[in-house]
Amino acid sequence: MDEMEKIKSNFTWIAGPCSAESEEQVIQTARDLSLKIPLSYYRAGLWKPRTSPNSFEGMGVAALPWMKKAKEQTGVKIITEVATSQHVELCLEHNFDALWIGARTTTNPFSVQEIAEALRGVNIPIFIKNPINPDLSLWIGAFERFQKVGLTDLSAIHRGFSVANKLPYRNKPLWEIPIEFKTQFPDIPLLCDPSHICGNRTLLKDVSQRAIDLGMNGIMIESHPNPDSALSDAAQQITPGQVSEMAAALHYRTTSLTSNSAEKLQILRDRVDALDADIIDLLGKRMNVAREMGALKKEEGIIIFQLERWKEILESREAWGKSAQLTETFLSAYLEAIHKESIRAQNGVMNKD
Ligand code: PEP
Ligand code: MN
Repeated sequence: MDEMEKIKSNFTWIAGPCSAESEEQVIQTARDLSLKIPLSYYRAGLWKPRTSPNSFEGMGVAALPWMKKAKEQTGVKIITEVATSQHVELCLEHNFDALWIGARTTTNPFSVQEIAEALRGVNIPIFIKNPINPDLSLWIGAFERFQKVGLTDLSAIHRGFSVANKLPYRNKPLWEIPIEFKTQFPDIPLLCDPSHICGNRTLLKDVSQRAIDLGMNGIMIESHPNPDSALSDAAQQITPGQVSEMAAALHYRTTSLTSNSAEKLQILRDRVDALDADIIDLLGKRMNVAREMGALKKEEGIIIFQLERWKEILESREAWGKSAQLTETFLSAYLEAIHKESIRAQNGVMNKD
């Protein structure tokens, strides 16, 4: 098997409807998906955490035998979301192959602990979604709770974060958080859930491709035989056929480079190294000037922070940033960091006798 085939065969696909709605829907979707994609687990939500109690909150225990039947009749492995110890017990009784922890549950350490206790001694695979707020340590804490009761088959699912200014997404991806997760835990498989990141169908493929480009190990995606009539998350679901089209259109990445691409990449890396060395050298020089300014201000008895000057700096640098094609967000973060450090440097000089 070549490198690329290996990557594809190790890639985890979890797909299925947002919610189990009827026996027929559960079994038909399982059959369609298992024939169309290399399905690792068939998903369906039984207990749905909804914002309003007036929304459809899932079929609950009634759907347990439907999932079991889907497994027996089509051979798929089954997974669902558990939020209480009672859910765990019911799923284990009904031969679920894996369980996932929803984003709202990961946010609450009491719930995670309760679920972990219920699983003590049962080494079933657990997929842990990121908490709804962008808090990496809370996500990691959930892993630690399961590790402490002896569970070893743990995976992470990145499903985006509920933050201000999240458009065009339903949950903003904030890619730096899953990247940091992967950096700290390179051995824990990390999947992406484009459905709950996007909240609509149009962005699904781009988000999935981005996840693959970042080296993620699988995708959990919502799929319904008739998405528009789904009882929950209708806008983001796609048919099994569309899942298979999307899967075929994605480009998988390898980490081992051909010698030609390795050479080209090395040239680019060398350029980045040289530029970073220059930038750091310039920053050092800039701080020296700030210290000289601090000394002068001390001599003359002038205050360090001068609002007019700061405004002038922001305006001129924003214009420079624009012509250098830097984003406003990056530039303002950079200016703020440099301004703080420069005040700190001036303060240092001021307070020295
Ligand atoms: C789901 O997968 O159906 C779900 C409710 O997801 P999340 O916990 O990511 O909101
Ligand atoms: Mn959903």
